Amino acid sequence: MKPLLTVFVDGLPPECIENMPFVKSFGNRSRIRTELGYSVTCDSSMYCGVRPNRHLKWFIWQRAEHGMYKWTKAFVRHPGTDLMVTAYTAYRLTKLLNHTNTSFYGIKYITGSCFRYWPEFDMVEKKLWSEPGFSDKYPTVFDILRSRGIPFKVSGFRRFGGGSSLAQLQADSFRPTQPWTFVFVGDVDGMMHKHGPESQETRTLLRRVDQRLETIYQELSRDGEDPIFMLFSDHGMTRVEKSIDIRKRFREHGLRLPSFVHMIDNNFARFWFDKDGDREKVQKVLASLEGGFVITDEVARQYHVDMPDNRFGDLIFYLDLPYAFGRTWYPLGLSAKTKPYHHGYSPDHSCMDGLLVASKSLRSTNMPIELCDIMPSILEALGQQVPHGLDGSSIWRTS
Ligand SMILES: [Zn+2]
Repeated sequence: MKPLLTVFVDGLPPECIENMPFVKSFGNRSRIRTELGYSVTCDSSMYCGVRPNRHLKWFIWQRAEHGMYKWTKAFVRHPGTDLMVTAYTAYRLTKLLNHTNTSFYGIKYITGSCFRYWPEFDMVEKKLWSEPGFSDKYPTVFDILRSRGIPFKVSGFRRFGGGSSLAQLQADSFRPTQPWTFVFVGDVDGMMHKHGPESQETRTLLRRVDQRLETIYQELSRDGEDPIFMLFSDHGMTRVEKSIDIRKRFREHGLRLPSFVHMIDNNFARFWFDKDGDREKVQKVLASLEGGFVITDEVARQYHVDMPDNRFGDLIFYLDLPYAFGRTWYPLGLSAKTKPYHHGYSPDHSCMDGLLVASKSLRSTNMPIELCDIMPSILEALGQQVPHGLDGSSIWRTS
């Protein structure tokens, strides 16, 4: 059995392959349809092989009884506690005291809601993708291989600010060759958000990533036999032209955003209603926004984000391109600038597509490749049986 090298590049748009001559040397290529959501949504679909309405990780923050900021409940009742300095202190303390969260993001500051609501929320990710039990719903590809005793190597994780993922790949050694080597490139997403896909900074980084991938590939080749190569990204990136100040929009309707339990992400506004009449008030504000729509049950089903309960919101509004919500509640006002490039827009926008490149032939183009196809494809490339009942299916051509 040939060893398998899979490379996950977070946020690599398909067009960027032009700056990666080694990756481009593999002839089998496709776009990947992304999910309606951010990286957290995409990652779970890739590693569990099911869509968001089954893995239930749609946004980083969900409303929950026992969140990591629950201890701040006693403080948020006092006036003046929506001050950023209070929120920032609570964040630093929680980070210091909580060692159980080992997710990719670690403990996050909540930029999408004011401090008084922090005790109401919890992160959907508590573990890193490759750790046992990442999902409490479905085993990941890592869990399955672990349970079958198939050894694998994971490299490139930059854990909560622990330096660059490329630096880790540079320092790591890939010998002896494992049946499966999983390489994570996390630096591209951040660079894209800041400088966009076309910038010189991004091109230089992609060139460096490409060079390291080539040497890793060479390290894994043994006795003249090359590994199977598979590179994928979870979403693309696009320039956001216009910003909407949602707090101002509420004020224009004689309302205050902090009166409602809310969570504002880059292009989603989510609300939970505890009082009668609140839904109508919020709907009126949202209806006045320039672009976007409320995610109705029908829309949710169409994008496989229909959820079993209201953990992600009683009312979820999607803001479409070219708009984004300006940053709402940011620590000490230090980073109030909106990132110029973003993802998280509808998968119907082709600029949101991810990329797939492989050394093996792909299935016919009649069946577009989706993120949930990644997990069964990794298993099949390793000669492993694919579990029944997944949403995804193998991307490889069967002859
Ligand atoms: Zn991502």
